[in-house]
Amino acid sequence: MQYKWMDNVRKVEPYVAGEQPKNADVIKLNTNENPYPPAPEVRSIINGMDTDILRKYPDPTISDLVNALADYHGVGHDQVFAGVGSDDVLSVAFLTFFAGDKPIIFPDITYAFYPVWADVYRIPYGTAPVGADFRINAADYMKENGGIVIANPNAPTSIWEAPAFFEEILKNNPSSMVIVDEAYVDFSNGSVLPLLEKYDNLLIVRTYSKSRSMAGMRIGYAIGRPEAIAAMNDIKQSINSYTLTQIAIASGVASVNDEKYFAGSCAKVVATRDKYDAVLRSIGFSGPKSQTNFLFFKHERVGGNEIFKRLREQNIFVRHFSKPAIDDYLRITIGTDEEMERLTQALKDIVK
Ligand SMILES: *Cc1c(COP(=O)(O)O)cnc(C)c1O
Repeated sequence: MQYKWMDNVRKVEPYVAGEQPKNADVIKLNTNENPYPPAPEVRSIINGMDTDILRKYPDPTISDLVNALADYHGVGHDQVFAGVGSDDVLSVAFLTFFAGDKPIIFPDITYAFYPVWADVYRIPYGTAPVGADFRINAADYMKENGGIVIANPNAPTSIWEAPAFFEEILKNNPSSMVIVDEAYVDFSNGSVLPLLEKYDNLLIVRTYSKSRSMAGMRIGYAIGRPEAIAAMNDIKQSINSYTLTQIAIASGVASVNDEKYFAGSCAKVVATRDKYDAVLRSIGFSGPKSQTNFLFFKHERVGGNEIFKRLREQNIFVRHFSKPAIDDYLRITIGTDEEMERLTQALKDIVK
């Protein structure tokens, strides 16, 4: 139906999230969730929650969580911004820092939400091509721009670049905010966080959804200079003051406080990743050496869409992107060893 008010509608092409099947016997390796539960204390917090506190609004400054995260990362309490998943944090960061006239830059193969936020906020943007090996070229980010966004490790390529790579970009772009989306950093060789002392134009974005096994709780955060965090809080307070729920704040703190569990859970994912990296290569798959909780692999004979469809028939969900440069590839989230074993058996049958 065409109505008159439709001329005034903001037109966007929305981001398409991975499927969330209702069916319980799916092996779900399509949205990079963690196969292990959150820290045990998260369960105690939720089970013991006095629902009477829900009468009141949550703390708009989210200070319990912000302070816990700041202490954890060794930065000031005024250097952390928390939001409803890192998608919310990134969205606020785009709105805050990318208000200039020059186009912002991000890689042509990266998290598909970046162009969506740019479009919805009317931010001009350009993309820089990744190489044939999917590596990002630092030189592409040295030209005039209104801001830079790079996921490190990058998604869906799983490739990590060392801090020295970002240092060049930060040094050459003093007038641009450089957002480094570290959604997968806990499975990698490390963060760009040490660069924050030296560069005021760095904003690091993190999430609880992958390494902290809490995608369903929706917690993300940014670490930056106090001035950058204050600017983001001004934007946030101009849209929605009360973003994180009481439950999210309390369980977010509980997760940060159990470092031992967290480190153990990340190590398990990494061990499974490295094991199945080798197993899948032995049956004709190839792709980058992953520094994430997923593998970005293609098969030497069978196409990505074909494998995707045949796995799906067996209730094994992985992610396939129909973008021409990567449509041979599958993005396979690292599950438990049992899930990865079942995936391997299915793949052996498909590619034989
Ligand atoms: C998963 C992901 C996010 C979003 O995570 P949420 O915190 O769940 O919103 C952001 N960036 C990248 C690169 C991701 O892969």
